[in-house]
Amino acid sequence: MDATGTKVLVIGGGPAGYVAAIRAGQLGLDTILIEEGRLGGTCLNVGCIPSKAFIHAAAAFHHAVEQQKTNAFGLSVTSAELDVAKMVQWKDTIVDRLTAGVAGLLGKSKVKVLQGRAELLDGKSCTVESGGKREKIGAEHLVLATGSVPVELPGLAFGGKVISSTEALSLAEAPRRVAVVGAGYIGLELGTVFAKLGSKVTVVEAEPRILPAWDAELTGPVAKRLERLGVTVMTGALAQGLSGGGAGLTVKRPDGSTTEVEADKVLVAVGRKARLEGFGLEKLGLAMGGRFVGIDHRCATSMRNVWAIGDVTGEPMLAHRAMAQGEMVAEIIAGHRRSFDKVSIPAICFTDPEIVTAGLLPEQARAAGHDVKVARFPFSANGRAMTQADEGGFVRVLARADNHLVLGIQAVGAEVSEFASAFSLALEMGARLEDVAGTIHAHPTRGEAIQEAALGALGHALHV
Ligand code: FAD
Ligand code: NAD
Repeated sequence: MDATGTKVLVIGGGPAGYVAAIRAGQLGLDTILIEEGRLGGTCLNVGCIPSKAFIHAAAAFHHAVEQQKTNAFGLSVTSAELDVAKMVQWKDTIVDRLTAGVAGLLGKSKVKVLQGRAELLDGKSCTVESGGKREKIGAEHLVLATGSVPVELPGLAFGGKVISSTEALSLAEAPRRVAVVGAGYIGLELGTVFAKLGSKVTVVEAEPRILPAWDAELTGPVAKRLERLGVTVMTGALAQGLSGGGAGLTVKRPDGSTTEVEADKVLVAVGRKARLEGFGLEKLGLAMGGRFVGIDHRCATSMRNVWAIGDVTGEPMLAHRAMAQGEMVAEIIAGHRRSFDKVSIPAICFTDPEIVTAGLLPEQARAAGHDVKVARFPFSANGRAMTQADEGGFVRVLARADNHLVLGIQAVGAEVSEFASAFSLALEMGARLEDVAGTIHAHPTRGEAIQEAALGALGHALHV
């Protein structure tokens, strides 16, 4: 067996691992990255990017279908069809471009990439079978970036008609009837896609309402839209397993009774768990943080020079957090003084309408003991939203009542995902309401609603 030594060994080529490796390479550190699947990990191959491609295509199709019925500005659409197989192919070309791009960036940073499964021997070495030969790699620093996998439910093991997001993102046609278990990010993003493609969608959620991590005011417009799309939402309901004849899903209602939901596919989206098994991690005996690898504010694990980043370290399991951790750990290894001290890790649910949150929600701020000012500005009073014939939703800002420090900003509405950067910038810069209100926001844009919400919190909104 060949043996190689390196300064930095990264296991996993998803957003956490590939960013850590690129940055380490940029800093001149000898770096090896091992990836058993495709570079880009979950996010590029079967997560963020494929789902957003589907969301775009399904929305375009649905829009065309809607125009056949309502024709406010004189557009005439006589027929609309969507070839799902072609949509999948289009998505694959985007994924291929991005994963090839990651390979190119790693090459540019002089990172050595090995394709194969890393098997840990201890906290400083692993073996990998790559290109037909088995190699032992020793490293000064080990970076664990092995990501996450979907949670399976008892009685609904993946296989056959029970699918995870991975299979949902490569179906050759839209199923006639889809049962979605879990009204979180994946269930609602992909449930909406299927509804727009014409599937009969039933969503089964254990909690009393959809997207339970966020407040009802913010998620209300999404619930209304699902209703208009014809999606049946069962809340306080538990999926129990496939029904006897295999025709669908058995669901336990809040009153204890059971019902059958007919389904050709059952998409289980009840969360993801750290990928911890099958590569010798247990040999390291690392301290855990719940079901995830335990880390401190520098992403250091309980073993010296063993670092963990991304989904394997827990919530929020988001690509931008993974990337920020990856960049930071590479810099720490290179000797920089860094710690993960972000005020804001924005979160976006790409539903219809989209939801974006940054910082604290009102009830979180109150629970933390803050006396807060909260103000909303509706898109129904925003000129740009009117000209786009999509006026639903609002921007909401909350700030400390005493010194007006912005504690959180949220929005629900069309295209609000693009607000995430402005929201986070305001929070990271420690903006006061006066800073946001005093910033000229270009007209006509949806972004004016951010300024108006801040003006509203100061008691003098101009356009409402
Ligand atoms: P991963 O991307 O999971 O990468 C881990 C990599 O490690 C994998 O490629 C795996 O093959 C490799 N690996 C594991 N073990 C080994 C081993 N022993 N040897 C070699 N290689 C190994 N996040 C967002 O921020 N925005 C979104 O819009 C979004 N949409 C999503 C949609 C879906 C359907 C899903 C499932 C997730 C979505 N996410 C989104 C979450 C996002 O994909 C993850 O947060 C992100 O991919 C985490 O990056 P990571 O590098 O930690 O892990
Ligand atoms: P999630 O945590 O967002 O939602 C899971 C939902 O399933 C919750 O509402 C939960 O109450 C419900 N649930 C749990 N057990 C249940 C049961 N037995 N029956 C019915 N409902 C049940 O998880 P997800 O949608 O699987 O997504 C996984 C992770 O992937 C997310 O946490 C997120 O980090 C990431 N993701 C992010 C995005 C994005 O950023 N836009 C998109 C997709 C996925």
